[in-house]
Amino acid sequence: MGQERGSISFDNTKNAFAYKSDKELKKAHFLFSSMGYQFLVSVGIRLTKWAIKMRLPVNGIIKNTIFQQFVGGETLAQTAPVARKLGEFNVQVILDYGVEGGESSESAFDHACEEFIRVIRYAATQPNIPFMSIKVTGIARFSLLEKLDKSAEEQSGSLMKRFAAAYDSLTKEEKGEWDRVKERIHKICTAAGSLKIGVLVDAEETWIQDPVDVLTMQMMDEFNKQKAIVYNTIQLYRHDRFSFLKDSITAAEQRSFVLGVKLVRGAYMEKERARAEANGYPSPIQPDKGTTDKDYNAALRLCVDHIDNVSFIVASHNEYSNLLATELLDEKGYSHRHPHVHFSQLYGMSDNITFNLAGAGCSVSKYLPFGPIRDVVPYLMRRAQENSSVAGQTGRELGLIKKEIARRKKER
Ligand SMILES: Cc1cc2nc3c(=O)[nH]c(=O)nc-3n(C[C@H](O)[C@H](O)[C@H](O)COP(=O)(O)OP(=O)(O)OC[C@H]3O[C@@H](n4cnc5c(N)ncnc54)[C@H](O)[C@@H]3O)c2cc1C
Repeated sequence: MGQERGSISFDNTKNAFAYKSDKELKKAHFLFSSMGYQFLVSVGIRLTKWAIKMRLPVNGIIKNTIFQQFVGGETLAQTAPVARKLGEFNVQVILDYGVEGGESSESAFDHACEEFIRVIRYAATQPNIPFMSIKVTGIARFSLLEKLDKSAEEQSGSLMKRFAAAYDSLTKEEKGEWDRVKERIHKICTAAGSLKIGVLVDAEETWIQDPVDVLTMQMMDEFNKQKAIVYNTIQLYRHDRFSFLKDSITAAEQRSFVLGVKLVRGAYMEKERARAEANGYPSPIQPDKGTTDKDYNAALRLCVDHIDNVSFIVASHNEYSNLLATELLDEKGYSHRHPHVHFSQLYGMSDNITFNLAGAGCSVSKYLPFGPIRDVVPYLMRRAQENSSVAGQTGRELGLIKKEIARRKKER
């Protein structure tokens, strides 16, 4: 089942689940077994969305099941015992305040900005929280991002040039609105820079990603002069992202800043393909999984090759890619704890990777979302979808959980 090469094995379920009691493990078994039924998941997702809209009292059910598995708590304070527990196993934490604003008001965006800063200040007081993540959709109107992206696409030239023209095409009010988005992210990065907490900017759907990339590059140019404070996210399921990564490295080298990148495969594949088909444009997604994997692994190699100028996060549940990253470091004689390398998996998933990497001395974390149930529902829906294919993640998770339950029984 698990990958094993060299000194690191992802098969060790004793290490992987040492932080879970028997009861917690049984609960996880029940949850992943249920998520194996695609029909159950798709009905569950529709029912949950409807129940929340109707304000039906479903919080209790969500909280005791999927929320507990994938989320750190409803408040920052509630994440503390989880982070402490992870810390006992040398696992770090990336705090993720689960806000996805959409069309919220300016005051909601200001509030989210303050919350992000609160997370940074809190992280700085903790021994094992070196990063936090933000979503630009938490501080900017989705349709404004969409408008900027669309109009940048109609221009030619470099991303920065196309974006400048897109900005010029906005109305006076919209320009003011965008300037406020910039002020918000600037405030967040200023706080992060002074407290040395990394800010990971999540990647979004392709139709709003250009302005997110521009903002992030601008922040890196200002805050990453000495070390990486700000990180962009590169989705290698997009066929254009490997070359975007190359361009970003060149830009960082030319402008003398450290490029921060979180490497992911990408979370919105079905949505992307469906939109492309509905609107009659070529899909931005790779033709198949093998091509995504090839680009992901090539991106790892590129980052290791430019490690002096690139600080990168291997954000993946793919065992092969995680092992490959350690091997590429070995090949070049770099330590697995090189300050420019970090590994991360989502809380509630792939504990076999996280805890075994930690055991092998790697710098590794759990990406830990928190927030009111209502706010983290979109995140939970994505996790349910991702885990609803028996051939995919659920099969992996369930197999490992079963193995550990059997191992503990035998040990008794
Ligand atoms: C710490 C962390 C942070 C993350 N942050 C973000 C983020 O900011 N934005 C974001 O979008 N996602 C994010 N993700 C999710 C990530 O993009 C993936 O959805 C998820 O991790 C699964 O990919 P994988 O590398 O773990 O492994 P795998 O299980 O090996 O790969 C699954 C992925 O491969 C791709 N894939 C599957 N089938 C095909 C196919 N037929 N054709 C082409 N590609 C295919 C898809 O991207 C799918 O999610 C994050 C994940 C982690 C662990």
